Amino acid sequence: MKSIEGKDSQMVVDKLYEQMQEDNEFFFRVRLDDDAKVCCLFWRDSMMLEDYNIFGDVMVFDTTYRTNKYNLICAPFVGINNHWKNTMFACAFLGDETKESFEWVFETFKKSMRGKCPISIFTDQDAAIATAIEKIFPNSRHRLCLWHLSQNANSRFGLIKADKQFKKDFHKCLSGCITPIEFEDTWKTMITRYNLQDDSWFKRLYSLKEKWSTAFSKDFFSAGILSSQRSESTNHAIGFNASKTTSLTEFYSIFQATVHRWRREEEMDDFNCTKGIPSSDFCMSALLKHASLVYTHTLFRDFEDEFKYAMASDIENLYAEGNNFIYRVCLNGIIGSDQRVYFNKLDSIVYCECKNFNESGWLCFHCIRVLHAHSYKQIPKKYISTRWKRLAKKEVWEKYDKEKREKGEINNFTPWRLHMIRRYYNLIIKSHKLEEARKVIEESFRKASITVENIIKKEEAKH
Ligand SMILES: [Zn+2]
Repeated sequence: MKSIEGKDSQMVVDKLYEQMQEDNEFFFRVRLDDDAKVCCLFWRDSMMLEDYNIFGDVMVFDTTYRTNKYNLICAPFVGINNHWKNTMFACAFLGDETKESFEWVFETFKKSMRGKCPISIFTDQDAAIATAIEKIFPNSRHRLCLWHLSQNANSRFGLIKADKQFKKDFHKCLSGCITPIEFEDTWKTMITRYNLQDDSWFKRLYSLKEKWSTAFSKDFFSAGILSSQRSESTNHAIGFNASKTTSLTEFYSIFQATVHRWRREEEMDDFNCTKGIPSSDFCMSALLKHASLVYTHTLFRDFEDEFKYAMASDIENLYAEGNNFIYRVCLNGIIGSDQRVYFNKLDSIVYCECKNFNESGWLCFHCIRVLHAHSYKQIPKKYISTRWKRLAKKEVWEKYDKEKREKGEINNFTPWRLHMIRRYYNLIIKSHKLEEARKVIEESFRKASITVENIIKKEEAKH
């Protein structure tokens, strides 16, 4: 094949087949070209399907990694978990960057995820990918990862980026403008100030403004990728430790190691969240306390920031009739922080013009200020997104189980079961060479068996 050929690809395919034997939900497809030679590979495992079901509202499709020999693209599909860390959804090797290849890979991805489409898809480039996204994910919003654009551009952007004022202006265009009008004004001022009217890179960037400025995407959930301080940390999002000499098999190993590392980290983060609630420099008011109980530690920090601003804000009632209110909430002295908030007391509906909740899944300080003014002790349920909860996975699994039971279906595939099999399996593999470790596994299994049997007996005695 012109792209994937030789021993290197045979080894990867063998490894994928091996995985297929162990994981009955493993999904693996190859695309053949006109000469019946492999030109694309796609795969995902059962955990990835499960993670996508929970965190698949936002996805980053990264095509920046190339192999040494055939200039193949290693393209991971990455999401963001409830701890605001990376989670892998799938991966593909692509022979070229044609519209047809992207269409195949997106179509295959969609099929592997049982038709579920993300709300926002972030990519590092436009053109061919954009056309493929429009066709395969017509209802998803295509967004551009600016860090890639700025990395790839041989423009003045790199040079003036060091300028503090420019950085501030640019950041405002990126995520500080609430309305398109505000964006246009800010952009125009910045372009004039730095004399960039004829710069082709900035011209192109402007033509793509709807794909990267948050002023144009407030109605689409993006997990706050561009809107918060996170945009910096999403830089080099995937962090594959690859270079120009990385081969196909090496890429596959890097991919595997990365997935393992991310999953281990997630387990640790989940564990840390169950150990206790995070502390705060603030006196824990009821609302803040509630946030600390429901959110992961990371998300609690975001909520805490909003809460801090809320407490510093002025609130003015503009309208009140029955249960309906309109407020003006403004952070003292901060331009652009002045927003209108609509509030219905009967149904606990709070809506802010800055649309932060739509975009990131947590309430903005304007809304928090209004809830606080009405002595709310808890965040209304509808404003706590499951995907940011500390028990996000557990909750989704339980809901899935319940739905199955209600439909009278036997639940023969529970994500929990697969998850635990994998965890035990990994532990067994790790321990099998050491006698002491083997004994621990055997002993814990013996103890767990007795306890589980007792629980079952007790349960049976009830009926
Ligand atoms: Zn707001």
